[in-house]
Amino acid sequence: MISEIHAHEDPILTREEAIEILNTPDDQLDTLIERAGILRKKYKGNRVSIHILTNVRSGNCTQDCAYCAQSCRSDADIDTYKWVDDDKLYNDNDFVNKYHLSRHCIGLSGMGFTDADIEQLAGRIRKMKETGTHLCCSIGFLTEKQARMLKDAGLDRINHNLNSSRNYYSHICTTHTFDQRVENIHMLQRLGFEICSGGIIGMGESKEDVVDMLLELKEINPEALPINFLLPIPGTPLGDQDISGLTYEYGMKVLCLARLLVPQSDIRCAAGREVYFKGHEKELLSVVDSIFASGYLTAGGQGINDTIQTITDAGFTYEIESA
Ligand code: SF4
Repeated sequence: MISEIHAHEDPILTREEAIEILNTPDDQLDTLIERAGILRKKYKGNRVSIHILTNVRSGNCTQDCAYCAQSCRSDADIDTYKWVDDDKLYNDNDFVNKYHLSRHCIGLSGMGFTDADIEQLAGRIRKMKETGTHLCCSIGFLTEKQARMLKDAGLDRINHNLNSSRNYYSHICTTHTFDQRVENIHMLQRLGFEICSGGIIGMGESKEDVVDMLLELKEINPEALPINFLLPIPGTPLGDQDISGLTYEYGMKVLCLARLLVPQSDIRCAAGREVYFKGHEKELLSVVDSIFASGYLTAGGQGINDTIQTITDAGFTYEIESA
């Protein structure tokens, strides 16, 4: 299959061919990485963008996503708060500007919000936009009115992940549907938001499910496509999930497929990077162009200085946008 992918053209893969990519023999992985790397260079050059996430609201979610420490099914020991301290939020925003990070991502647990909640959030967004930060908000379902309120406040991008395939979705969440997520994203796109949308690998889904999710993401064509590799959290339904299949080789095949299918998107290796790709940073960064600097909702990440070192050691530059 890999030999049929022409080096400098964006490949058009059928579902079967995409499944074949995930079944690439390990001794052909280097060739696959090389092919995906050509597209990465073509669209993203040699740069890696770095992100930091501030959890604005944590815990007490009404939804039952099986992987999530904040869900109503989780007994995980996490901090819960309705609004993060304003000092913390604005300090993190200053940190983004100080280190010239490309974007400030803020995450809110929960799926439904009142208009009053959204107005409070919009006020904080307006304040952070005074410093010129490019802002992304990870948030649940919004009404069109609420989405417009955030757009008017200056919010640039919204993260709303698909997480898994349509077929597998009910195995990980029963309180909302895959199609609700897709419809929410389309509404946001109509309003002009940039979209960040991706998924989680390692929740018991099949390779076909991974392919179907990526094909759906290809249709959405998000500006950023984060792939998370499950870090089972004790106290969640997936706390004891068998992750023996989450090898470096399999992870790279998934990321290469994401690059081949959605080549112009920022392909981000999000949760699980330090665990599953440790020692393989050069190969990883030759395919993905985006990583988080620290903090994946409630799981800790690698610090900023270590992250910069990792990037430069691997021969890449990190992205500096004027903030
Ligand atoms: S992923 Fe989001 S919607 Fe699902 S339980 Fe966690 S906070 Fe709630």
